[in-house]
Amino acid sequence: MYKVGVIGGSGFETLISEGVRKRDLDRYGSIDYTLGYVKGIETVFIPRHGFKHEYPPHKIPFKAMINLLNKLDIDRVIGISAVGSLREDLPPGSIAIPIQLIDYTIRRDTFYEDHPIHVDVSRPYCRALIKILLDKAEELGIKVEYGLTYVATEGPRFETPSEIRMFKVLGGDLVGMTNIPEAILAREAGMHYALITLVTNYAAGMQDLIDMDEVYRISKMRERDIFRLVEESIPVISSSELDDECIRFRGRFREVSR
Ligand SMILES: [Zn+2]
Repeated sequence: MYKVGVIGGSGFETLISEGVRKRDLDRYGSIDYTLGYVKGIETVFIPRHGFKHEYPPHKIPFKAMINLLNKLDIDRVIGISAVGSLREDLPPGSIAIPIQLIDYTIRRDTFYEDHPIHVDVSRPYCRALIKILLDKAEELGIKVEYGLTYVATEGPRFETPSEIRMFKVLGGDLVGMTNIPEAILAREAGMHYALITLVTNYAAGMQDLIDMDEVYRISKMRERDIFRLVEESIPVISSSELDDECIRFRGRFREVSR
């Protein structure tokens, strides 16, 4: 059985039973996390924005976060994020799993600062983990949209309506502020990583289509579905043999992060 990592909003900490809060400090920064169990599987939960929501998107210690998972010998990681939707047929409350990523940030986080290494991100998310999540969602009767493109923006501001129109032209479906560099660093570190997103709003310029109280109510309801999906998937993620595609750079990463 393999350990599993979950990176998400602090509300998801309650996934973990017998949880112990810990802090890790290394050359990449300090990270608070919870170590415990989900359905008997040893699981680490990292609140992406800190337990006190102290890190805005551009201040999240992403490298420390991924390196912590590495040090704990975890290479199976599920991210959970709130996103905006660029599509009218993807309303607030939708649960969506992206398969592609567009980087519209100015972040340059990499573990290979001083090494001529170019990781392959032809498929930025782990196909095997996505399949496990989709199969489990189907089994649980949870509707999940799949095959989407996530556009990562710098934040902390939201996008302008013109930017949103541009992202639509570029093929974007979802917009958020954190999956760059999270997904890329996970790949650099040789991890299997997939992202589950919850659409909490339409992107700028589409907002007048919705009633915010309704959005809040739907989001709360769907958060419980995501919780259930992650909780039920963890034992499968832990016990499955996964592809080798995501872990090609692990050896190099271990050399540079030593
Ligand atoms: Zn994989």
